[in-house]
Amino acid sequence: MSSPYEDNTWESPNASWLALLGRALPFFVFLVLAGAGMYAVFLFFSPSGTDLGVVETVRSSGLSAPFFKTTPPKLVSQRLAQSPGPIRIAIISGHRGYDPGAVCEDGLTEAEVNFNIAEKVVANLRLRGIRATILDEYDNQLQDFSGTALISIHADSCDYINEQATGYKIAGSAFSDSSLLQSCMENSYETATQLPYHPGTVTADMLDYHAFYDIAQGTPAIIIETGFMNLDRELLTERSDVPANAIADGILCFMGASR
Ligand SMILES: [Zn+2]
Repeated sequence: MSSPYEDNTWESPNASWLALLGRALPFFVFLVLAGAGMYAVFLFFSPSGTDLGVVETVRSSGLSAPFFKTTPPKLVSQRLAQSPGPIRIAIISGHRGYDPGAVCEDGLTEAEVNFNIAEKVVANLRLRGIRATILDEYDNQLQDFSGTALISIHADSCDYINEQATGYKIAGSAFSDSSLLQSCMENSYETATQLPYHPGTVTADMLDYHAFYDIAQGTPAIIIETGFMNLDRELLTERSDVPANAIADGILCFMGASR
């Protein structure tokens, strides 16, 4: 005769272990299969060692893009130029620190005219809390300059050419999209100064302007010829607030539109 304890103390624990194992078996099988699957995927995408053959097969089949692309190293200044940095406007005072530019019979130089306007533009921008700097024509800071915009201020010949030698013109850098800066400046400058646009004399020097090559790509840049020192002299010298404020307004238009 067996005791009622015997069943429970000796047989029942073994049976329940087996039952538990039996119930958990599908789960273990799933774990093993999942692990094997993940390992297979890992091997498939691992480029090193003996698995390169698998990668090459997939590559040459033409069904999938290459896993690895060689990317050329990029200059840090270019990466910075693509991300919005702090607002920074550079104004080149044409010919400053280099040569006088155009010279009038009475000794007035283009460099003086440009600097007078450049100073007023910068003062105007600073009053509005915009960081702005005046640079020389061949300023060291131009090298890889990365900022919101660069504007170079020049003026045209002081010689009397003909009655059509009046007006302004603007050329933009071909290295970065400067069209918005240019159109803002044209609208603002023409409205404020009432000067005609004078496209006939946009020279190779303007389009091929040296600073466009020096600054970091991604910084919009333009060169503006504010007027002719002969027929537009009064506006450029005695009423220089008008062209200066027009240039500042053109920059503000660009900053507002590109925000
Ligand atoms: Zn000039």
